[in-house]
Amino acid sequence: MDLLVQKFGGSSLATPQKVLSAARRAIGEFEAGRSVVVVVSAQGDYTDRLITMARQIHPEPNPREMDTLMAVGEQMSIALMAIAIHSLGHGAVSLTGAQAGIRTDNVSSKARIRTIDTSRLRRELEREQIVIVAGFQGVDVDDNITTLGRGGSDTTAVALAAALGAERCDIYTDVEGVYTADPRLVPQARWIPVIDYDELLELASLGARVMHSRAVELAKRYGVPFRVRPSFSESEGTLVTDLSGEMEQVDVRGAALETEEAKVTIRHVPDRPGVAATIFSEIAAASINVDMIVQNVSEQNRADVSFTVMQRDLPRAVQVAGRLADELNAAGVDVNEEIAKVSIVGTGMRSHAGVAERMFRALADQKINILMISTSEIKVSCVIEAPAGERALRAVHNAFELEKNDTDTKDDNE
Ligand code: ADP
Ligand code: ASP
Ligand code: MG
Repeated sequence: MDLLVQKFGGSSLATPQKVLSAARRAIGEFEAGRSVVVVVSAQGDYTDRLITMARQIHPEPNPREMDTLMAVGEQMSIALMAIAIHSLGHGAVSLTGAQAGIRTDNVSSKARIRTIDTSRLRRELEREQIVIVAGFQGVDVDDNITTLGRGGSDTTAVALAAALGAERCDIYTDVEGVYTADPRLVPQARWIPVIDYDELLELASLGARVMHSRAVELAKRYGVPFRVRPSFSESEGTLVTDLSGEMEQVDVRGAALETEEAKVTIRHVPDRPGVAATIFSEIAAASINVDMIVQNVSEQNRADVSFTVMQRDLPRAVQVAGRLADELNAAGVDVNEEIAKVSIVGTGMRSHAGVAERMFRALADQKINILMISTSEIKVSCVIEAPAGERALRAVHNAFELEKNDTDTKDDNE
Protein backbone atom coordinates (compact mmCIF):
# COMPACT_ATOMS: atom_id res chain seq x y z
CA MET A 1 0.00 0.00 0.00
CA ASP A 2 1.16 3.54 -0.77
CA LEU A 3 2.60 5.34 2.21
CA LEU A 4 2.56 9.10 2.33
CA VAL A 5 4.15 11.60 4.73
CA GLN A 6 2.48 15.01 4.91
CA LYS A 7 3.93 17.91 6.88
CA PHE A 8 1.99 21.00 7.88
CA GLY A 9 3.89 24.13 8.92
CA GLY A 10 2.84 26.54 11.66
CA SER A 11 0.94 28.99 9.47
CA SER A 12 -1.04 26.10 7.94
CA LEU A 13 -2.28 25.18 11.45
CA ALA A 14 -2.71 28.65 12.95
CA THR A 15 -6.49 28.47 13.55
CA PRO A 16 -9.01 25.71 14.36
CA GLN A 17 -10.34 26.02 10.79
CA LYS A 18 -6.86 25.48 9.39
CA VAL A 19 -6.29 22.44 11.60
CA LEU A 20 -9.56 21.00 10.30
CA SER A 21 -8.62 21.77 6.73
CA ALA A 22 -5.25 20.00 7.17
CA ALA A 23 -7.12 17.09 8.76
CA ARG A 24 -9.37 16.88 5.68
CA ARG A 25 -6.32 16.62 3.42
CA ALA A 26 -4.95 13.75 5.47
CA ILE A 27 -8.35 12.02 5.39
CA GLY A 28 -8.63 12.56 1.62
CA GLU A 29 -5.38 10.61 1.10
CA PHE A 30 -6.42 7.95 3.59
CA GLU A 31 -9.73 7.45 1.82
CA ALA A 32 -7.85 7.05 -1.44
CA GLY A 33 -6.31 3.93 0.11
CA ARG A 34 -2.99 5.27 1.40
CA SER A 35 -1.28 4.94 4.76
CA VAL A 36 -0.81 8.46 6.06
CA VAL A 37 1.75 9.88 8.48
CA VAL A 38 1.23 13.56 9.30
CA VAL A 39 4.04 15.66 10.78
CA VAL A 40 2.98 18.91 12.40
CA SER A 41 4.72 22.08 13.57
CA ALA A 42 3.65 24.33 16.42
CA GLN A 43 0.72 26.58 15.55
CA GLY A 44 1.53 30.01 14.08
CA ASP A 45 4.29 31.73 16.03
CA TYR A 46 3.82 29.60 19.13
CA THR A 47 7.48 28.55 19.30
CA ASP A 48 8.55 32.23 19.33
CA ARG A 49 6.10 32.89 22.13
CA LEU A 50 7.53 30.02 24.19
CA ILE A 51 11.04 31.43 23.75
CA THR A 52 9.86 34.89 24.81
CA MET A 53 8.21 33.42 27.91
CA ALA A 54 11.48 31.81 28.99
CA ARG A 55 13.52 34.95 28.35
CA GLN A 56 11.13 36.99 30.47
CA ILE A 57 12.26 34.81 33.34
CA HIS A 58 15.94 34.32 32.50
CA PRO A 59 18.04 36.01 29.78
CA GLU A 60 19.98 32.84 29.00
CA PRO A 61 17.82 29.86 29.94
CA ASN A 62 19.31 26.43 30.49
CA PRO A 63 19.54 24.68 27.07
CA ARG A 64 17.98 21.41 28.25
CA GLU A 65 14.97 23.19 29.71
CA MET A 66 14.64 25.30 26.56
CA ASP A 67 14.34 22.14 24.47
CA THR A 68 11.69 20.79 26.84
CA LEU A 69 9.83 24.08 26.53
CA MET A 70 10.18 24.53 22.76
CA ALA A 71 8.87 21.02 22.11
CA VAL A 72 5.56 21.94 23.75
CA GLY A 73 4.11 23.66 20.67
CA GLU A 74 4.35 20.56 18.50
CA GLN A 75 2.82 18.46 21.27
CA MET A 76 -0.24 20.72 21.25
CA SER A 77 -0.50 20.41 17.49
CA ILE A 78 -0.41 16.60 17.39
CA ALA A 79 -3.27 16.34 19.86
CA LEU A 80 -5.34 19.02 18.11
CA MET A 81 -4.80 17.37 14.75
CA ALA A 82 -5.81 13.94 16.08
CA ILE A 83 -8.90 15.51 17.68
CA ALA A 84 -9.74 17.18 14.35
CA ILE A 85 -9.48 13.86 12.50
CA HIS A 86 -11.66 12.16 15.14
CA SER A 87 -14.23 14.92 14.75
CA LEU A 88 -14.40 14.09 11.05
CA GLY A 89 -15.10 10.46 11.83
CA HIS A 90 -11.70 8.82 11.29
CA GLY A 91 -9.12 7.08 13.43
CA ALA A 92 -5.94 8.96 14.34
CA VAL A 93 -3.29 8.69 17.00
CA SER A 94 -0.82 11.36 18.09
CA LEU A 95 2.82 10.50 18.83
CA THR A 96 5.54 12.68 20.33
CA GLY A 97 9.02 12.41 18.85
CA ALA A 98 9.97 9.88 21.52
CA GLN A 99 6.83 7.79 20.95
CA ALA A 100 7.58 7.82 17.22
CA GLY A 101 11.01 6.33 17.96
CA ILE A 102 13.07 9.39 16.95
CA ARG A 103 16.48 9.28 18.66
CA THR A 104 18.87 12.19 18.37
CA ASP A 105 22.27 13.24 19.66
CA ASN A 106 22.32 15.42 22.77
CA VAL A 107 23.10 18.83 21.24
CA SER A 108 20.35 21.05 22.62
CA SER A 109 18.42 23.18 20.13
CA LYS A 110 20.27 21.75 17.13
CA ALA A 111 20.10 18.01 17.71
CA ARG A 112 20.61 15.65 14.80
CA ILE A 113 18.52 12.55 14.22
CA ARG A 114 20.54 9.38 14.77
CA THR A 115 18.00 6.61 14.36
CA ILE A 116 14.28 6.07 13.97
CA ASP A 117 12.69 2.93 15.36
CA THR A 118 9.59 2.70 13.19
CA SER A 119 7.95 -0.25 14.96
CA ARG A 120 5.30 1.77 16.85
CA LEU A 121 4.56 3.84 13.75
CA ARG A 122 4.10 0.73 11.64
CA ARG A 123 1.88 -0.87 14.27
CA GLU A 124 -0.41 2.15 14.29
CA LEU A 125 -0.50 2.25 10.48
CA GLU A 126 -1.45 -1.42 10.41
CA ARG A 127 -4.33 -0.59 12.75
CA GLU A 128 -5.44 1.81 9.98
CA GLN A 129 -4.78 4.88 12.06
CA ILE A 130 -3.70 8.17 10.58
CA VAL A 131 -0.52 8.72 12.57
CA ILE A 132 0.29 12.25 13.70
CA VAL A 133 3.92 12.89 14.70
CA ALA A 134 5.31 15.94 16.47
CA GLY A 135 7.87 17.64 14.24
CA PHE A 136 11.10 19.29 15.40
CA GLN A 137 11.69 16.97 18.39
CA GLY A 138 13.26 13.72 19.49
CA VAL A 139 14.95 12.28 22.55
CA ASP A 140 18.61 11.66 23.28
CA VAL A 141 20.16 8.53 24.71
CA ASP A 142 19.14 9.60 28.24
CA ASP A 143 15.54 10.31 27.14
CA ASN A 144 16.01 14.08 27.39
CA ILE A 145 13.74 15.91 24.95
CA THR A 146 15.76 17.55 22.17
CA THR A 147 14.82 19.88 19.33
CA LEU A 148 16.27 19.90 15.81
CA GLY A 149 16.75 23.64 15.22
CA ARG A 150 14.26 26.27 14.06
CA GLY A 151 12.23 25.07 11.09
CA GLY A 152 13.18 21.47 11.97
CA SER A 153 9.77 19.89 11.40
CA ASP A 154 10.68 19.63 7.71
CA THR A 155 13.59 17.43 8.75
CA THR A 156 11.32 15.21 10.84
CA ALA A 157 9.05 14.73 7.81
CA VAL A 158 11.82 13.83 5.38
CA ALA A 159 13.54 11.58 7.92
CA LEU A 160 10.28 9.68 8.50
CA ALA A 161 9.68 9.42 4.75
CA ALA A 162 13.17 7.91 4.37
CA ALA A 163 12.84 5.56 7.36
CA LEU A 164 9.40 4.31 6.29
CA GLY A 165 10.24 4.12 2.58
CA ALA A 166 7.33 6.45 1.78
CA GLU A 167 6.13 6.81 -1.79
CA ARG A 168 5.55 10.53 -1.33
CA CYS A 169 6.45 13.35 1.01
CA ASP A 170 4.42 16.56 0.80
CA ILE A 171 5.52 19.67 2.71
CA TYR A 172 2.48 21.94 3.01
CA THR A 173 3.20 25.62 3.61
CA ASP A 174 1.85 29.13 3.11
CA VAL A 175 3.24 29.79 -0.40
CA GLU A 176 2.69 28.08 -3.77
CA GLY A 177 6.04 26.31 -3.56
CA VAL A 178 9.65 27.32 -4.05
CA TYR A 179 10.14 30.66 -5.80
CA THR A 180 13.16 32.31 -7.39
CA ALA A 181 13.32 34.44 -4.20
CA ASP A 182 11.15 34.98 -1.13
CA PRO A 183 7.89 36.20 -2.74
CA ARG A 184 7.24 38.36 0.32
CA LEU A 185 10.39 40.37 -0.42
CA VAL A 186 10.46 40.20 -4.22
CA PRO A 187 6.98 40.60 -5.71
CA GLN A 188 8.28 39.57 -9.17
CA ALA A 189 9.63 36.27 -7.87
CA ARG A 190 8.61 33.33 -10.04
CA TRP A 191 7.27 29.98 -8.92
CA ILE A 192 9.69 27.14 -9.80
CA PRO A 193 8.00 23.87 -10.92
CA VAL A 194 11.00 21.55 -10.40
CA ILE A 195 14.24 22.20 -8.56
CA ASP A 196 17.38 20.17 -7.91
CA TYR A 197 18.23 19.06 -4.37
CA ASP A 198 21.55 20.92 -4.50
CA GLU A 199 19.96 24.19 -5.55
CA LEU A 200 17.30 24.13 -2.85
CA LEU A 201 19.92 23.01 -0.33
CA GLU A 202 22.03 26.07 -1.12
CA LEU A 203 19.03 28.43 -1.15
CA ALA A 204 17.84 27.05 2.19
CA SER A 205 21.31 27.26 3.74
CA LEU A 206 21.65 30.83 2.47
CA GLY A 207 18.52 32.15 4.16
CA ALA A 208 15.49 31.03 2.10
CA ARG A 209 13.56 29.64 5.03
CA VAL A 210 11.00 27.84 2.85
CA MET A 211 12.72 24.53 3.80
CA HIS A 212 14.98 23.48 6.65
CA SER A 213 18.31 22.89 4.89
CA ARG A 214 18.96 19.66 6.78
CA ALA A 215 15.69 18.27 5.41
CA VAL A 216 16.91 18.84 1.87
CA GLU A 217 20.27 17.29 2.73
CA LEU A 218 18.52 14.17 4.07
CA ALA A 219 16.20 13.98 1.06
CA LYS A 220 19.20 14.05 -1.24
CA ARG A 221 21.15 11.46 0.75
CA TYR A 222 18.24 8.99 0.88
CA GLY A 223 16.81 9.82 -2.55
CA VAL A 224 13.46 11.07 -1.23
CA PRO A 225 11.83 13.33 -3.83
CA PHE A 226 9.35 15.66 -2.14
CA ARG A 227 6.96 18.49 -2.91
CA VAL A 228 6.73 21.91 -1.31
CA ARG A 229 3.10 22.81 -1.82
CA PRO A 230 0.43 25.24 -0.66
CA SER A 231 -1.96 24.26 2.09
CA PHE A 232 -4.50 26.83 0.85
CA SER A 233 -5.03 25.50 -2.70
CA GLU A 234 -4.93 22.30 -4.71
CA SER A 235 -1.88 23.16 -6.80
CA GLU A 236 0.96 20.69 -6.97
CA GLY A 237 3.69 23.02 -5.74
CA THR A 238 7.37 22.48 -6.46
CA LEU A 239 8.93 19.06 -6.98
CA VAL A 240 12.35 18.75 -5.37
CA THR A 241 14.40 15.98 -6.93
CA ASP A 242 17.71 15.06 -8.55
CA LEU A 243 18.15 17.02 -11.77
CA SER A 244 21.90 16.50 -12.04
CA GLY A 245 21.42 14.43 -15.21
CA GLU A 246 19.84 17.34 -17.10
CA MET A 247 21.90 18.38 -20.10
CA GLU A 248 21.25 22.11 -19.85
CA GLN A 249 21.17 23.73 -16.45
CA VAL A 250 20.16 27.30 -15.76
CA ASP A 251 23.02 29.48 -14.59
CA VAL A 252 21.12 31.18 -11.76
CA ARG A 253 18.05 29.45 -10.32
CA GLY A 254 17.28 31.72 -7.41
CA ALA A 255 18.42 34.34 -4.92
CA ALA A 256 18.27 34.46 -1.13
CA LEU A 257 18.76 36.91 1.69
CA GLU A 258 20.15 36.04 5.12
CA THR A 259 19.56 38.62 7.83
CA GLU A 260 20.47 36.64 10.92
CA GLU A 261 24.24 36.71 10.74
CA ALA A 262 26.73 39.00 12.46
CA LYS A 263 30.35 39.87 11.72
CA VAL A 264 33.12 39.57 14.30
CA THR A 265 36.55 41.11 13.70
CA ILE A 266 39.65 40.42 15.77
CA ARG A 267 41.87 43.43 15.09
CA HIS A 268 45.62 43.36 14.56
CA VAL A 269 46.43 39.74 15.23
CA PRO A 270 50.03 38.68 14.50
CA ASP A 271 50.35 37.68 10.82
CA ARG A 272 52.19 34.37 11.25
CA PRO A 273 51.53 30.71 10.52
CA GLY A 274 49.14 28.95 12.89
CA VAL A 275 47.13 31.96 14.02
CA ALA A 276 44.07 31.22 11.88
CA ALA A 277 44.22 27.58 12.98
CA THR A 278 44.25 28.66 16.63
CA ILE A 279 41.34 31.08 16.22
CA PHE A 280 39.05 28.78 14.30
CA SER A 281 39.77 25.66 16.30
CA GLU A 282 38.77 27.56 19.46
CA ILE A 283 35.59 28.82 17.78
CA ALA A 284 34.75 25.30 16.58
CA ALA A 285 35.41 23.89 20.05
CA ALA A 286 32.64 26.20 21.30
CA SER A 287 30.25 24.56 18.74
CA ILE A 288 29.95 27.79 16.77
CA ASN A 289 29.54 27.47 13.01
CA VAL A 290 31.52 30.03 11.06
CA ASP A 291 30.24 31.05 7.66
CA MET A 292 32.59 33.48 5.88
CA ILE A 293 36.16 34.36 6.81
CA VAL A 294 38.24 37.28 5.54
CA GLN A 295 41.74 38.30 6.54
CA ASN A 296 42.97 41.82 5.73
CA VAL A 297 46.69 42.34 6.07
CA SER A 298 47.51 45.63 7.76
CA GLU A 299 50.84 47.12 8.77
CA GLN A 300 53.70 45.69 10.82
CA ASN A 301 52.89 42.05 10.30
CA ARG A 302 49.46 42.40 11.82
CA ALA A 303 46.16 41.35 10.22
CA ASP A 304 42.45 41.86 10.90
CA VAL A 305 40.57 38.55 10.91
CA SER A 306 36.83 38.85 10.29
CA PHE A 307 34.26 36.07 10.28
CA THR A 308 30.49 35.75 10.28
CA VAL A 309 28.36 33.65 12.63
CA MET A 310 24.64 33.33 13.28
CA GLN A 311 23.42 36.09 15.62
CA ARG A 312 22.19 33.49 18.11
CA ASP A 313 25.82 32.30 18.50
CA LEU A 314 27.18 35.85 18.77
CA PRO A 315 27.49 36.14 22.58
CA ARG A 316 29.59 32.97 22.73
CA ALA A 317 31.60 33.97 19.64
CA VAL A 318 32.43 37.34 21.19
CA GLN A 319 33.46 35.67 24.43
CA VAL A 320 35.85 33.31 22.62
CA ALA A 321 37.16 36.09 20.35
CA GLY A 322 37.82 38.33 23.37
CA ARG A 323 39.82 35.63 25.08
CA LEU A 324 41.78 34.94 21.88
CA ALA A 325 42.47 38.64 21.38
CA ASP A 326 44.08 38.75 24.82
CA GLU A 327 46.08 35.58 24.27
CA LEU A 328 47.31 36.67 20.83
CA ASN A 329 48.02 40.19 21.98
CA ALA A 330 45.62 41.58 19.36
CA ALA A 331 44.13 45.09 19.43
CA GLY A 332 40.57 44.05 20.29
CA VAL A 333 37.28 42.73 18.95
CA ASP A 334 34.68 44.57 16.84
CA VAL A 335 31.14 43.33 16.25
CA ASN A 336 28.78 44.31 13.45
CA GLU A 337 25.24 42.97 13.73
CA GLU A 338 23.98 45.26 11.00
CA ILE A 339 24.86 43.00 8.10
CA ALA A 340 22.92 41.00 5.54
CA LYS A 341 24.04 38.42 3.02
CA VAL A 342 22.62 38.27 -0.47
CA SER A 343 23.32 35.16 -2.56
CA ILE A 344 22.62 33.69 -5.97
CA VAL A 345 22.44 29.95 -6.59
CA GLY A 346 22.41 27.75 -9.67
CA THR A 347 24.02 24.46 -10.73
CA GLY A 348 24.59 25.90 -14.22
CA MET A 349 27.07 28.42 -12.77
CA ARG A 350 29.73 25.74 -13.05
CA SER A 351 29.76 26.22 -16.81
CA HIS A 352 28.73 29.86 -17.21
CA ALA A 353 31.37 32.58 -16.94
CA GLY A 354 30.74 36.10 -15.67
CA VAL A 355 28.01 35.33 -13.15
CA ALA A 356 29.82 36.84 -10.15
CA GLU A 357 30.78 39.93 -12.11
CA ARG A 358 27.14 40.49 -13.08
CA MET A 359 26.09 40.25 -9.45
CA PHE A 360 28.74 42.75 -8.31
CA ARG A 361 27.68 45.13 -11.09
CA ALA A 362 24.02 44.92 -10.00
CA LEU A 363 25.02 45.85 -6.44
CA ALA A 364 27.35 48.61 -7.63
CA ASP A 365 24.59 50.12 -9.77
CA GLN A 366 22.55 50.41 -6.56
CA LYS A 367 25.57 51.94 -4.76
CA ILE A 368 25.60 49.00 -2.35
CA ASN A 369 29.01 48.37 -0.81
CA ILE A 370 30.23 44.77 -0.57
CA LEU A 371 31.89 43.90 2.76
CA MET A 372 32.73 40.23 2.14
CA ILE A 373 32.44 37.79 -0.75
CA SER A 374 32.39 34.03 -0.92
CA THR A 375 31.83 31.72 -3.85
CA SER A 376 31.45 28.03 -4.53
CA GLU A 377 30.76 26.09 -7.72
CA ILE A 378 27.05 26.82 -7.49
CA LYS A 379 26.69 30.04 -5.48
CA VAL A 380 28.01 33.57 -4.99
CA SER A 381 27.35 35.38 -1.69
CA CYS A 382 28.02 39.00 -0.74
CA VAL A 383 27.84 40.44 2.76
CA ILE A 384 26.49 43.99 2.72
CA GLU A 385 25.11 46.54 5.19
CA ALA A 386 21.79 45.33 6.62
CA PRO A 387 19.58 48.26 5.56
CA ALA A 388 20.41 47.54 1.89
CA GLY A 389 19.44 43.86 2.14
CA GLU A 390 16.02 43.77 0.50
CA ARG A 391 17.03 46.29 -2.16
CA ALA A 392 20.07 44.14 -2.96
CA LEU A 393 17.94 41.01 -3.27
CA ARG A 394 15.58 42.75 -5.70
CA ALA A 395 18.48 44.22 -7.69
CA VAL A 396 20.16 40.84 -8.10
CA HIS A 397 16.86 39.14 -8.96
CA ASN A 398 16.32 41.77 -11.60
CA ALA A 399 19.87 41.60 -12.99
CA PHE A 400 19.55 37.88 -13.72
CA GLU A 401 15.98 38.29 -14.99
CA LEU A 402 14.88 35.51 -12.68
CA GLU A 403 11.23 36.44 -13.19
CA LYS A 404 11.51 35.01 -16.72
CA ASN A 405 14.33 32.54 -16.44
CA ASP A 406 12.91 29.47 -18.15
CA THR A 407 9.90 28.40 -20.11
CA ASP A 408 7.55 27.79 -17.21
CA THR A 409 5.68 30.71 -15.76
CA LYS A 410 3.97 31.21 -12.45
CA ASP A 411 0.63 31.20 -14.27
CA ASP A 412 1.03 27.51 -15.09
CA ASN A 413 0.56 26.75 -11.43
CA GLU A 414 -2.52 28.81 -10.86
P1 ADP B 1 6.13 26.76 7.51
O1 ADP B 1 5.52 27.37 8.73
O2 ADP B 1 5.10 26.15 6.61
O3 ADP B 1 7.27 25.84 7.81
P2 ADP B 1 7.98 28.85 6.78
O4 ADP B 1 7.60 30.19 7.25
O5 ADP B 1 9.04 28.11 7.53
O6 ADP B 1 6.66 27.97 6.66
O7 ADP B 1 8.44 28.91 5.25
C1 ADP B 1 7.60 29.50 4.29
C2 ADP B 1 8.08 30.91 4.00
O8 ADP B 1 9.36 30.88 3.39
C3 ADP B 1 7.23 31.67 3.01
O9 ADP B 1 6.15 32.30 3.64
C4 ADP B 1 8.20 32.66 2.38
O10 ADP B 1 8.05 33.96 2.90
C5 ADP B 1 9.56 32.13 2.79
N1 ADP B 1 10.50 31.98 1.67
C6 ADP B 1 11.79 32.39 1.68
N2 ADP B 1 12.39 32.13 0.53
C7 ADP B 1 11.48 31.53 -0.26
C8 ADP B 1 11.51 30.99 -1.59
N3 ADP B 1 12.62 31.04 -2.34
N4 ADP B 1 10.39 30.43 -2.07
C9 ADP B 1 9.28 30.37 -1.32
N5 ADP B 1 9.18 30.86 -0.07
C10 ADP B 1 10.27 31.43 0.47
N1 ASP C 1 8.00 25.07 15.53
C1 ASP C 1 9.40 25.02 15.19
C2 ASP C 1 9.88 26.41 14.79
O1 ASP C 1 9.11 27.36 14.86
C3 ASP C 1 9.72 24.01 14.13
C4 ASP C 1 9.08 24.23 12.78
O2 ASP C 1 8.18 25.06 12.64
O3 ASP C 1 9.47 23.55 11.83
O4 ASP C 1 11.02 26.57 14.47
MG1 MG D 1 9.35 26.09 8.05
